[in-house]
Amino acid sequence: MNSKSSKKRAFKKKLKVEIDLRNRFQKLIHYNLTRPLNIRPKHWLYDSKQWRELRYKTLRKYGFRCMACKTSESELHVDHIKPHSKYPELAFIESNLQVLCKDCNLGKSNIYEDDFTIDNVNTLHYECVTGR
Ligand SMILES: [Zn+2]
Repeated sequence: MNSKSSKKRAFKKKLKVEIDLRNRFQKLIHYNLTRPLNIRPKHWLYDSKQWRELRYKTLRKYGFRCMACKTSESELHVDHIKPHSKYPELAFIESNLQVLCKDCNLGKSNIYEDDFTIDNVNTLHYECVTGR
């Protein structure tokens, strides 16, 4: 009886995370679709298919919110912990990526190498994505 209801609770919790993620992603899509084409950057990194896949993977992994200030309401960037301007060899390394809002990312710039990944993994969702 008990294990049945705890399974039910776990399922409900998982569902809530899924819905929450979907809502946040829809906001993100809406933002990108309403952004004028002429201000989207043409960049060796940001315009590559590999980057877009890695970027999305990182957003899913960390749950579509800024890992520094925790907002999910503002424009989200996938940040290179070690900036790609200084370490281009780390540009596509998953463990070098984190989610920051625009303000936090522009503030961090390529000056700091602050790592917010510790304690920020969206474990529940990551588990169901990777099957672990
Ligand atoms: Zn932030």
